[in-house]
Amino acid sequence: MDSVEIRRRRIELTRGDITTQAVDAIANAANEALRGGGGVDGAIHRAAGPGLLDELRDRYPAGTPTGTAVATAAHRLPSRWVLHAVGPVWRGGGHGEAELLDGAYRSCLRLADELRARTLAFPAISMGIYGYPSDEGARIGVEAVARHLGGEGTSLEVVRFVLFSDETYDHFAVALRETDVSD
Ligand code: ADP
Repeated sequence: MDSVEIRRRRIELTRGDITTQAVDAIANAANEALRGGGGVDGAIHRAAGPGLLDELRDRYPAGTPTGTAVATAAHRLPSRWVLHAVGPVWRGGGHGEAELLDGAYRSCLRLADELRARTLAFPAISMGIYGYPSDEGARIGVEAVARHLGGEGTSLEVVRFVLFSDETYDHFAVALRETDVSD
């Protein structure tokens, strides 16, 4: 496991399945409709049980735009909350994808602070079905977290990227090494 410290807070990388993470909040790579889907979204809904979809329908009937996130309870998952983030579909890079992906990560970090979460786990948002290039996607995720942990007033102590494949892990490891974490 790779990790770095920023102002006595930590960014960690681990291989695995985010649905088993016993952290305060896990992020989901959702879609705008917030009605479940494939990939990590499907895994989270299966593990959380049907109450998750019921809560999303009740509280967010219109879904949420790309680049934003909303919070729910975690139902049968071991975490307390799920932060449903909507990353962009990769369309070549000229359609604001980088800002939208950064926005998805930052929305989760902001929600985690509102909930006073101390530990948060992220999947590789947009890097599966949505086709975001792995090197760039990893860099944007790590930089968003590093900036947030380097700032004032966050409740977060550990932010962990939970990566499903060795290849994705390796992209995050490179991004972590190349990101400036000095304060
Ligand atoms: P998107 O539609 O945002 O691209 P995907 O779910 O297709 O979302 O993929 C995002 C990343 O999540 C991919 O790297 C995929 O391999 C990974 N992934 C899939 N299932 C899980 C899981 N259970 N835990 C963690 N990561 C997962």
